[in-house]
Formats: sequence, structure tokens, C-alpha cells
Amino acid sequence: MSRSSDTRRLYREENQVLALIPHINRQLSLGECQRWVSRICSASRYEAPAVQFGPGVRHGNQMLSWNDGPTVELAPGERDFLTIAHESTHHWHPDHDAKFRRRYFKILRDYAGVDAYAALRAAKIFGLGCIVTAFISSEWYLW
Ligand SMILES: [Zn+2]
Repeated sequence: MSRSSDTRRLYREENQVLALIPHINRQLSLGECQRWVSRICSASRYEAPAVQFGPGVRHGNQMLSWNDGPTVELAPGERDFLTIAHESTHHWHPDHDAKFRRRYFKILRDYAGVDAYAALRAAKIFGLGCIVTAFISSEWYLW
């Protein structure tokens, strides 16, 4: 799969399925965001990026968060664990390829208890409503 189709697929999965899971989409303070990024990136020998809140970068009609190595900028509406997991994954993998996906989904599982593979599979088979139901009834809702 080409790089741009990897990206389109990932953004679609984030916007249509992973965006429905409440606890990883709750907006956080700058301090909370920095603590998560530092904790996740402490598994790397490179220094964790500094987190800032800013406008983000334009992608079509959307403003998206970014990671340029030393800095992660979180755009409005993206100051949540889902975006932190995504941008922290760029600490290891610049592209949205298979390696990116594996680490990203592992971070979601290890730190937030979200099985992204199961959520995406369930959404495909049963529709999107099941995702909200499944995660609201899980212990992670109180996370
Ligand atoms: Zn990305």
C-alpha cells in the first residue's frame, strides 16, 4: 500500500471509529498531555518532545496536530489521548506504515486499554453503534 493510502485509511479509522471511544477523546490539560507524551516516549532513548497547544497544520479543511521531533503541537479538539498516542508514535515512525500502526495500536492498548484491532473489526461487522456500547460498558470508561 502506498504512503498516502496508508494515511487515508488511518485517518478514516480514527475519524469514523476510534473517535467514538469516549475516554481517549476527552480533552486534557497541557500538563496532562505533556505527562502522557513523556511517559510514552520514555521507552525511547531519544528525549521526549515538548508539547504545545497551537492552531495545528492545515490538511484539506481540517487543522491537524503535528510532531516535528522536538515538538508536538496539539490542535484544538485534538488535545486528547488518541492524538497523543498518534503523535507519540511519530517519535519512532515518520510514516503511517505497518510499523506505525503496530506501535500506535500497542500504545492504545497498553496505556488506555483500547483494542483498536477489535474496535475496527467490530465496526466493520456490526456497525459503529457497537463501539460506543462496548467501551461505555468497559472499566476503561472511568479511566
Ligand atoms: Zn501522523
